[in-house]
Amino acid sequence: MVSPDELDRLRRRYRLERERRVRADGPRQYVGADAAFGSYAADPHAAAPAPREPLKDTVDVAVVGGGFGGILAGARLRAQGVGRVRIVERGGDFGGTWYWNRYPGIHCDIESHVYLPMLDETGYVPEWKYAPGEEIRRHAVRIAEKSDLYADALFSTAVTSLTWDEPSGTWLVTTDRGDEFRATYVITATGTLTDLKLPGIPGIEEFEGRTFHTSRWDYAYTKGSPKGGLSGLADQRVGVVGTGATGVQVIPMLAEDAGHLYVFQRTPSSVDVRANRPTTAGDVGADHHGWARERRDNFLRIVSGEPSGEDRVADGWTASAALLEKLLPSFRREGDPAAFEAAYEAADAARMNEIRARVERTVTDPATAEKLKPWYRYACKRPTFSDTYLQAFNRDNVTLVDTADTHGIERMTARGVVVGDTEYALDCLIFATGFSVGASGLHTGSLPVRGRDGLRLPQAWAERGMRTLHGFTSHGFPNLIQLGAPQSAASVNFTHVLDEHAVHAAALVAAAEAEGAVIEPSREAEDAWNALLAGAAPDHEWFHADCTPGYYNGEGRGRPNGPTAYPHGAFAFHELLRRWREDSLHEALRPRTAARP
Ligand code: NDP
Repeated sequence: MVSPDELDRLRRRYRLERERRVRADGPRQYVGADAAFGSYAADPHAAAPAPREPLKDTVDVAVVGGGFGGILAGARLRAQGVGRVRIVERGGDFGGTWYWNRYPGIHCDIESHVYLPMLDETGYVPEWKYAPGEEIRRHAVRIAEKSDLYADALFSTAVTSLTWDEPSGTWLVTTDRGDEFRATYVITATGTLTDLKLPGIPGIEEFEGRTFHTSRWDYAYTKGSPKGGLSGLADQRVGVVGTGATGVQVIPMLAEDAGHLYVFQRTPSSVDVRANRPTTAGDVGADHHGWARERRDNFLRIVSGEPSGEDRVADGWTASAALLEKLLPSFRREGDPAAFEAAYEAADAARMNEIRARVERTVTDPATAEKLKPWYRYACKRPTFSDTYLQAFNRDNVTLVDTADTHGIERMTARGVVVGDTEYALDCLIFATGFSVGASGLHTGSLPVRGRDGLRLPQAWAERGMRTLHGFTSHGFPNLIQLGAPQSAASVNFTHVLDEHAVHAAALVAAAEAEGAVIEPSREAEDAWNALLAGAAPDHEWFHADCTPGYYNGEGRGRPNGPTAYPHGAFAFHELLRRWREDSLHEALRPRTAARP
């Protein structure tokens, strides 16, 4: 039990630690990989694309993005009998996040038996509780092959605009390879954390050593593979900036192989037990068709706050499920709100005390241990899990450089990194500094969309607020379906969410085809959905406003206002979609000839 006095002390400490880190420039402290930094985004996994003739043909469905969202959309469309599905992907192959991110130590931090989609359909049973990145990437390829998605796919190609043509009832899709093809339907599956970001610090271009971002790992320089063996770093002074979910996985691998490793930390992660281990089909109940769906549903129930009876996955996520309520706006909460918040805070403090005690038990140097303790509430930052990260700081070749008081590394020189009065000379600096948050290019404007009557995104939503039916479709944008977007419901197991969305998208397309209709919700249907979101959304702004800065809270500013998610949990949302498809799908359709007023 945590006493009221201790709770009070913790609140004060958390506030202090937040104040040390908040920066006036918030998200503007970062730069993207464009203009002068464009080379950071280059694809290290594919040869320069061979020239090809631009395409001017017509397909049934264009899918923007070939990560799990796009692949699942393709697979579920195939299951509905849809013929020509063209997935357009910036990378040189399918895989999305798992195509780009191949850094040493990369693993999924969600159990592989619930994270990898379509295990029932493919018959694949992962061999480890937490799968390495390469196994996940290969599974993405497996689904794409099984669903025959390669034939029409375009790789090393970015969609540059989408324009609706009402007379022909098609979208004109243009790309950066000169394509101008048409598609009756467009599904966007462009991810949420896709565009890498770098600290926008002075001198970053002056550094004469090697630099790269973790999502574009340079194995030509480091040698080795995601399994380690980075012999190219053996006598190198290596720096790594960032100790988030990526840093926690990559730092132990760098510590093994670098001559000396400097870890530049601004905010420590909460690092819980991982306990990865080989698994057998028997361990996970993979003895009948449907086992994976049942396990995945069980996990989702627990992390969405639904009553579940048993806990099949039994890991750090399910053990702390009740503490995810603030992270996931869509989490079922019940009972008296004041009692709920009090119990929540006490459980949160107990959990974080355990995590801090683990640091103290594991790290031998007390001063280093102190710096590695996270002082914020659980889920202020993405929880992480590792049995090798904290241990890495017991090695003689690893130095932890705390940068909280200077708000991060301050500048770079030709020789290395400056923090306070010290210049750290480096041969190589690796940025584990994460990704810009954006539901998709539709929301940021990087993918211009022109709907019916010249209506544009994101301008239309900037003026009137975001308006959708279930997060998928919008009035004025016929036959355009978004996957994984706001106004639906999120979960820590994002592939599950994407799969449910893919099933839904494919059902919309199939219904429109069967009825000779166009997918476009009425204004009334959008209004009803917005009203439902606004009416029941719990207020979590205060929680995020009290957290240390990070991408969960707009770098310390709290969440943007407005209804963004279905408020009763992802599990309930998927149930709602199923019922709606049976009873009310017509709400999203209109006849092909008549435009809705
Ligand atoms: P994050 O945004 O979580 O972390 C970025 C890190 O860079 C933070 O530690 C940040 O510090 C630090 N940083 C940024 N600028 C500076 C600076 N100027 N000086 C010092 N430090 C700086 O990115 P990640 O790539 O770690 O993770 C992003 C997301 O990707 C995860 O939250 C998760 O959703 C996903 N992911 C998932 C994995 C999985 O297994 N499923 C594995 C890896 C990533 P500060 O915290 O102070 O801002």
